[in-house]
Order: sequence, then structure tokens, then C-alpha cells
Amino acid sequence: MGKLGWTMSGIRKNYIYGRWVEGDAVTENRNPARPQELIGYFASSGVAHVEAAVAAARAAQPAWAAATPQQRSDVLARAGAKLLERADEIGRLLAREEGKALPEAIGEATRAAQIFSFFAGEALRVSGQKIASVRPGVEIEVTREPLGVVGLITPWNFPIAIPAWKVAPALAAGNAVVLKPAELTPACAHVLTEILHEAGIPAGVFNLVMGQGSLVGQALTDHPDVAAISFTGSEAVGRSIAMACARTMKKVQLEMGGKNPLVVLDDADIETAVRCALNGAFFSTGQRCTASSRLIVQKGIHDKFVEALDAARLALRLGDPLQADTDIGPVVSENQLSGNLDYVALAAAEGCEVRGGGRLNHEGFFQAPALFVGATNAMRSSREEIFGPCASVIAVCDFDEALAVANDTRFGLSSGIVTQSLKYATAFRQKSQAGMVMTNLPTAGVDYHVPFGGRKASSLGSREQGPMAMEFYTGVKTAYEFA
Ligand code: NAP
Repeated sequence: MGKLGWTMSGIRKNYIYGRWVEGDAVTENRNPARPQELIGYFASSGVAHVEAAVAAARAAQPAWAAATPQQRSDVLARAGAKLLERADEIGRLLAREEGKALPEAIGEATRAAQIFSFFAGEALRVSGQKIASVRPGVEIEVTREPLGVVGLITPWNFPIAIPAWKVAPALAAGNAVVLKPAELTPACAHVLTEILHEAGIPAGVFNLVMGQGSLVGQALTDHPDVAAISFTGSEAVGRSIAMACARTMKKVQLEMGGKNPLVVLDDADIETAVRCALNGAFFSTGQRCTASSRLIVQKGIHDKFVEALDAARLALRLGDPLQADTDIGPVVSENQLSGNLDYVALAAAEGCEVRGGGRLNHEGFFQAPALFVGATNAMRSSREEIFGPCASVIAVCDFDEALAVANDTRFGLSSGIVTQSLKYATAFRQKSQAGMVMTNLPTAGVDYHVPFGGRKASSLGSREQGPMAMEFYTGVKTAYEFA
């Protein structure tokens, strides 16, 4: 089955100190579009594996930090080239593992390759600054140094891109890494590990430990030899990690959920508005932290927009992510689907007119995309992150009300506005309380070379992606010298 040799036999193992290491138990990974189809068996590990991986990383890190930037850059560049060469095949695996439609899955694998290539460049740009002292004869130099061992904990919804955007800058800066991927999607992280191994990463510099978050993730977070944790996932787990890091005085970076508003003003181009809402709310089965889960629509365009969006929603093709004509694949798991269906029932009970949202009557975890028409921003279905193909439609009178509703959330990841008015687009960009603001674009869909992150309960700590990502993985040193 392709170069990866994914067969149903064989257990994919942890990777510790350059060797493949068995876990304590084994988990099965299945295709959410066809749950009877086994993707593979994966090691499920315990605290002892975390201990071994952290010890390996600690032993290997000084030599990696002392390597030349060119040596680190070369490993990252080779990994990027291998990811790109295998992007189609990894995309197919990702589509089977997570359920993302194939073009998006291949796009994600390609993005992982681009991220590695980008940070191969950044590895060469770690620089310092000379600053004149206020005292005669004294020179000051400010430099950035790696932190040591960093723990990276990733979610299932971008199973190759998110590991890439943490691993690549961490390694570029000279840290050693222990990666703990989501239990639902270990296959892509395993492939990334194989690729780093082939790219010549020195033993111990990169380690993979698969297993439950409450066991492996927590042990990594609590470990005294781990200098920093970068986490992407839910707000609840993020909060518990922040508290654990406070107890052990670790640097922490959290990327969490969103309830992202897309504002549609009366003067919007209707086709643009429908395209943005359809993509932002439903593509990737709505399983994006940046999904447009609140559509805030001015009254003059409301009915026309809802009917056009509903027609586009009904035309979406749900099916096997590997088929060329599929727009939307399955929800990632039975558990996630059941949570989504609970929110559909809640929206109806809260008084929304629910369009779609039911479970499809065939194999796999398929759910019809849902619109909650007539929602208010006070409803729980409009306030809590659902993380599925569901969007609330909230009617507003004018721009000021739209902005107030958009900002009335404890999240602040991304936001968007569809308008032809420069005045309102500018005002929205300035006043939106989100880390990323889109004009005439979906709230989801970001470039890989610029800062990514939010505000409020969506993010904590330095930005990911782009040159700013290096800030998290380095510490500042100010050196004084009397010459
Ligand atoms: P999750 O349940 O919070 O899990 C994220 C990761 O944390 C997984 O690897 C999980 O392991 C691990 N984990 C669970 N409990 C832990 C603990 N006590 N200590 C340490 N690690 C622990 O999130 P998810 O369901 O995978 O992902 C969906 C969420 O991620 C959504 O809220 C979404 O908005 C957010 N997200 C945010 C961004 C962003 O950049 N802002 C991007 C993508 C996704 P297990 O796999 O074993 O549970």
C-alpha cells in the first residue's frame, strides 16, 4: 500500500533515542468514513516512556544546540523535501485517518512540507543584538538561546500540519523535542517521525510518545526536565496544562478553541458572503479552530443570504474523503458526532429553526451540515464551541450591533467581515477582539509564514507560525562585558 507500507499487521511504535520502542498496550486506528476499515495498530504508552523520552532528549540536546545552524537547517530542509515528495500519499493517509476531503488533506501535507522548508531558513536567522551601555567601557549583547527539552502536545484535527508547526521551529532553535500526538490520529505523526529519522535527525533530538493525554500528556507536562510545553487543543485541557505548568514553572504556549464570527453586512456581495460562510462553517466538517461558527447577518440581506447559503449547503457532497467529488468527509469519531448531535438538539430546544444537522443514514460518522437560523448570541449553542459542521445565524440591525455581537464571546481566535465598505472593513479590523481578522475571506484558511494565534480564551503565550514562532522556543540572554 504505497511507500509507507501501511498494512494491517504490525504495530507502529514510539520513537525514543533513535529507536522504535514498544508501548504498554496497543490501540487501533480506524477510518471514520468506514469504521470497519483498520488503518493500523499503534503503541499506547505510559509514564516510563515519557521518562525515557525526556532523558533521551536531555542527553541529546546540548550537541544539537552546539551544531551549526547550517547542520540544523539541512535536517529540516531534507525533512521538508521528503514531506513534499510524499504529500499525495500522506494526504491519502490523513484523509483515511481523520476524514478530511482529499484536496484539503493533500493541501495540509503540502503545508507541513512548506513549514519545514520555512524553518530550515529560520534556523539560519537566529541572531542577536549589540546595545550600547549607559556605562563607559561596557558592551551589551542580547542573544536568544534554546530552552532545552520541549514537550509538544497536538490535537487530531490537523494531524500533520500542527505537529509540523511546533516541531520545526523547536528544532530550528536548537531544542530537543518530545511529541505527544492525539490518540485519534497517530498515523500522520508516525509518518512525520519516519521522515525525520530518514532526514538524519540525531538520536534523542526528536522523540515520539503515543498514548492517552491524561497519562502521556500529563506526565510530559509535569516532568521537571521539560522546559516548555506547546499545546494545541481544547480550552478545558489547555487550562489544566496552564495550571500544571505554573506549578512546575514551565514556559507554556496554548492554542485553543474559537467561536469565530463572520459578519455579513447589507452591502456584501452575496456570492462572496455565501462562499465565505460555506467554506468557513462547513469545510473540514467544521472541525477547525477557526471555523465560522457564528454568522452575524444584517437584517437587510438576512433572508436572501440564508436562502442562498442553505441552497449551497444542500448542494454540498458528503462522502468518502478519498473520492474526487467529495466536499465534506465524516466527523472524526462516534464520540465527537454524538456531541455535535446534542448541540443540534440544544439549538432546537433553544428556539432555533434547525436546517440539516442529522446523522446520515449510512456507514461512517457522517452528519449533514447544520444552520441554526434565528439564533441569538445568548444561546448556549451560540456561545460554546461545537467543533462540528454547525453554524448559528444571528440577525443584527447595523454594523455597531454586529461588532458588539462578534466581540461578545470569551474566545478571540479569528473573525471576518463581508462588506464592500472600506469604512466598515477598516473599523472591523481595528475593533475586532480576535487575533486574526479577515475581510471578504472565510475566518478559516491561513498562510503558514505569518503569525497565528488568538486572544482571550483562545490562546495564551507567544504566537505560532512565521518568524515569531522562534520566540517561544528560545530564551533571551543579556550579556555585559567590560572591554
Ligand atoms: P483535546 O481533547 O484538548 O486534546 C488535545 C491534545 O491534548 C491531545 O493530544 C490529547 O490527548 C491531549 N490531552 C488530553 N488531556 C490531557 C492532559 N490532561 N494533559 C496533557 N495532554 C492532554 O483537543 P482535541 O479534541 O484533540 O482537539 C480539538 C480542540 O483543539 C478544539 O477545541 C479546537 O478548537 C482546538 N484547536 C485549536 C487550534 C488553534 O490553533 N487554536 C488548532 C486546532 C485545534 P488524547 O488524544 O489522548 O486525548
